[in-house]
Amino acid sequence: GEPIVLSDKCIGCLKCVKVCPAEAMEMFFTPEELQILQELAKQQEASGVAAAEEEDAEEAALATMLAAYRGVWVFVEQTEGEPAKVSWELMGVGAQLAKSLGVELCAMVIGENVEHLCHEAFAYGATKAYLLDQKVFHFYRTEPYLDACCYLIAKYKPEIILMGATGMGRDLAGAVATRVKTGLTADCTGLDVDDKRNLRQTRPAFGGNIMATIMCDKFRPQMATVRPHVMQMPEKTGDATGEIIQERFEIDEASILTKVLEIIKDKKAGVDIAGAEFIVSGGRGMMAPENFTMLQELADELGGVVGASRSAVDAGWMPHDRQVGQTGKTVRPKIYIACGISGAIQHLVGMQDSDVVIAINRDKEAPIFQVATYGIVGDLFQIVPALTQCIRELKNQGP
Ligand code: FAD
Repeated sequence: GEPIVLSDKCIGCLKCVKVCPAEAMEMFFTPEELQILQELAKQQEASGVAAAEEEDAEEAALATMLAAYRGVWVFVEQTEGEPAKVSWELMGVGAQLAKSLGVELCAMVIGENVEHLCHEAFAYGATKAYLLDQKVFHFYRTEPYLDACCYLIAKYKPEIILMGATGMGRDLAGAVATRVKTGLTADCTGLDVDDKRNLRQTRPAFGGNIMATIMCDKFRPQMATVRPHVMQMPEKTGDATGEIIQERFEIDEASILTKVLEIIKDKKAGVDIAGAEFIVSGGRGMMAPENFTMLQELADELGGVVGASRSAVDAGWMPHDRQVGQTGKTVRPKIYIACGISGAIQHLVGMQDSDVVIAINRDKEAPIFQVATYGIVGDLFQIVPALTQCIRELKNQGP
């Protein structure tokens, strides 16, 4: 039958004419209606032009802001003048980024009596160091370090800032990113730049099941933290020199709420699995805490330490500081021996960059074998003691 047009709803958009498959629709307008439609079209065009102009202006302002930021900075973390190794590891990746961007690699050194760290930074690849050497920075405290960092950022405008994902780095990076209103990607495992000078920050996401590449393309500086041992330590050159830019930041000690009264060193000399060259790790397949003695014996023969999967830690068989993986430590030993560990992605991200991986598992389908240099399919309770025995005998035979 005849189509019914609801005159109070129809706005004359002609969509019904266009979609009619039989091309049976036509629409006619009175001269008054046509005039109204033309005026509406004019208004729409004008507002479109204005919006496009506004967008262009915004883009130009963004481009000017982005262009004002240049250089790659690495925060040189130190405690009582002793540098954290992760800072030098970051110099390695920082140098690659600086080279791709055609800019300088700079060190940001904050502390008291820390000028020697600028020279060490040059030896690891920096060509410039921004130095704040004042009593107030003797101990790390968030407030003065935050103020100092923001002062240097506002004055020198770096495009990238890298920090170690340590207790200090995590604290400072988060505070700085919030204050300067920029993005921060924590625990990156890969860093490079795209053709628009944006930092491509790769890290595990959604429980480690995917690798996400995160960009911060509308804000500067771009900030990232990286865990110790994730990036390769660069070569140290003996005769490298660079420019030190000594700065002073006026800050009143009385205005700082946090006071360091005493430093109490951790008495239980914790085992540093992150820095170990040989690691023998146990997982749920170890069955009981006492079985870890077997792993300790093998580790002792190798001059290494015992690590664990999260399942072993959650079961209370090993302390948390031995956990390897996404929520534990990232390790890069010469040899990593995984005993009774299935190789979940969250474990693999913490150890897959080891030079040699030896996996012992009775399930030949276990994913750990996919990253293993050598795989031994069998019962660890037979294999581990046999390995230990074998190494002992080799040692007794001498060279
Ligand atoms: P299982 O997966 O149960 O594997 C035990 C293995 O032992 C099996 O492959 C079995 O074949 C083998 N086995 C048993 N008996 C023997 C025997 N007699 N001889 C030889 N082999 C034997 N996990 C981590 O390790 N580190 C992390 O940091 C971490 N973070 C996580 C973060 C998140 C957000 C989530 C969701 C999970 C995380 N996990 C982490 C947990 C991870 O997903 C796995 O559950 C865990 O790694 C499994 O530990 P496993 O390999 O020891 O145990």
